[in-house]
Amino acid sequence: ATSEGTETESSSVAPASMATRPNIRPLQVLALASSSSTRFVLNEEALKRILCDSKVANRKVVVISVAGAFRKGKSFLLNFFLEYLYSLSEAQEENCEHDWLSDEKQLRGFHWKAGAHRDTSGMWMWGEPILIRRDDGEKVAVVLVDTQGTFDNASTYRQCTTIFALSTMISSVQIYNIVDTIQEDSLQNLSLFVEYGRLATKESGDSYRKPFQTLVFLIRDFKSPDDYPYGKEGGTALLNDVLKVTKDQEPELRDVREQIKNCFDKILCYLLPHPGFKVSERISFKGHVRDIRPAFKNELEKLVPDLLNPTALEPKEINGKIITCKKLLEYFREYARTFDG
Ligand code: GDP
Repeated sequence: ATSEGTETESSSVAPASMATRPNIRPLQVLALASSSSTRFVLNEEALKRILCDSKVANRKVVVISVAGAFRKGKSFLLNFFLEYLYSLSEAQEENCEHDWLSDEKQLRGFHWKAGAHRDTSGMWMWGEPILIRRDDGEKVAVVLVDTQGTFDNASTYRQCTTIFALSTMISSVQIYNIVDTIQEDSLQNLSLFVEYGRLATKESGDSYRKPFQTLVFLIRDFKSPDDYPYGKEGGTALLNDVLKVTKDQEPELRDVREQIKNCFDKILCYLLPHPGFKVSERISFKGHVRDIRPAFKNELEKLVPDLLNPTALEPKEINGKIITCKKLLEYFREYARTFDG
């Protein structure tokens, strides 16, 4: 019942790193059984193809997930992640430096939700893990995931909660992609799906450990750089203000904050400026790096390596144990079963 997406991209020039992998594309690994259903279907075949390939099956897995509403630039960001990771992986093989974001580059602009209606809730995974050598010499398999849905109304609310909970449970880093600023309702949605995930992992887990690894708030089109500067520094300051717990706060607001803090080992925040109108007006943007507003490009040049450099990559741990790609498939199956019904 799932769609893997069969559309092909018409982009004429792909960057060198992508051009060598014309057949790799994102696959939909989780889809709703129907638009009105709260049940969903796991695409086991796609997951097996990605995670059980002999090159990666027994390697430690690092799962980077970007989650959020439709059309908020998640795919756009993931294409930069791909560019960086492939470029790094090739530079490691050839033992050379890598210039992953030069102005001459044209990003493939990969359409992550190919084959699906653009507003489809679900989870997509890049068609192969990318191998990156960490400082200790061991190669880890990096898996990229795009999770989207909307909290618009009661029927989509439940669907999204389970999808976002599941993507949090399987990821090492969950990037929560939001626009403008961290609103109270984004925090509430987050605390709900985190709670779902926590309950589902609790049965097998140990209750002293925080259930999840890293949460990143990624704020797009941030408009108050005078109050909080762009990047990690401003993000950290904003996050500290938003997650502050005070005595005179409503108990409900306090609980949401405690809940989020208690569920993740690490919480980060980055503020990104608007990428420029050549990017936001889809018709004119063809993926040329030179068309991206310099302020945005500068922030990407810091953000992407900060999250994905070989030292930063954290293998996925479940109940305190590092897991492999093959094991991830087993957990995926088990978690999906917990939520189904
Ligand atoms: P997704 O549905 O969340 O994956 O969103 P897409 O990556 O497909 O992006 C939707 C549209 O927003 C595209 O036209 C992008 O070029 C544009 N876009 C990407 N990043 C940003 C951003 O940070 N701000 C704005 N305003 N637009 C963006």
